Amino acid sequence: RKGTVIITGASSGLGLATAKALAETGEWHVIMACRNFLKAEKAAKSVGITKENYSVMHLDLASLESVRQFADTFRRSGRPLDALVCNAAVYLPTAKEPTYTAEGFELSVGTNHLGHFLLARLLLDDLKQSDYPYKRLIIVGSITGNTNTLAGNVPPKANLGDLRGLAGGLNGIQSSAMIDGGDFDGAKAYKDSKVCNMLTMQEFHRRYNEETGITFASLYPGCIATTGLFREHIPLFRLLFPPFQKYITKGYVSEEEAGGRLAQVVSDPSLTKSGVYWSWNKNSESFENQLSKEASDAEKARKLWEVSEKLVGLA
Ligand code: NDP
Repeated sequence: RKGTVIITGASSGLGLATAKALAETGEWHVIMACRNFLKAEKAAKSVGITKENYSVMHLDLASLESVRQFADTFRRSGRPLDALVCNAAVYLPTAKEPTYTAEGFELSVGTNHLGHFLLARLLLDDLKQSDYPYKRLIIVGSITGNTNTLAGNVPPKANLGDLRGLAGGLNGIQSSAMIDGGDFDGAKAYKDSKVCNMLTMQEFHRRYNEETGITFASLYPGCIATTGLFREHIPLFRLLFPPFQKYITKGYVSEEEAGGRLAQVVSDPSLTKSGVYWSWNKNSESFENQLSKEASDAEKARKLWEVSEKLVGLA
């Protein structure tokens, strides 16, 4: 049978390119989990994904209610779940003030981390029940959360501190809108959320890989300088960033190539190792990359898991 894969944020950029790459194999039915139904439908058509290979289901990660509804709707569809890709993200580098999710969490961490945390926890049982030969939960990471790399050292650096802002509710009222309790910084909030993504992947691995056989992995697909992720950035940045990445850092990858990489992590029979953060070298070969000290801190991962459980209403 065909595999079923859910991809969040499949209406543009990396998610769309991955949906296309997987759908084209003819071996996958792609559920595009998107907040904008029409945009997702148009996007699927624009890249030529054929009707029988995808469906769009509504998911707004900035609302935990919507996440719960999505899980219910997916279950009612009667499809098995063979792979889940947590890909959607918002990046608000020029925001001066925090904005918030429906439940009042700072938007970047609320969407990129907390929404996905609840989604992955709710769908874990569905993945467990799948009889597919490889079952995978992939959370898209980023180099920007890795302070052991050059790109990860561009200020402001990711730092979750002792999680006091998150533990306080991340709402800018009783607590700071930043995980570490500091002043709001949109670029840092994004990087922090990506560190959360990578810590969450590893904590899933420690808690569930042996028992369930599910592969948990993360990846840095390369710098896809052309996606909508940079839509909130200043125009000069948007103009100069793609050539800068292409010719100076040489970290640039096209959306198509990055989509191929993520599709590989979802479906390649040789990439079944769990707990791994995948990256690609100059020859486009995958390798197991090292995470920064903070992004591989097991104690912090456990604490993040417990605090996040409380915030999303699982504990
Ligand atoms: P895009 O902005 O093109 O895609 C992000 C997607 O997330 C969009 O489809 C967007 O939906 C969706 N999204 C945003 N908020 C929500 C929400 N509340 N609910 C549901 N969906 C939502 O960016 P990319 O493709 O670049 O980003 C994809 C992933 O790749 C992210 O995890 C990012 O961190 C990661 N990444 C990107 C890199 C890059 O260089 N671009 C480098 C490393 C990692 P909509 O279409 O409706 O706006």
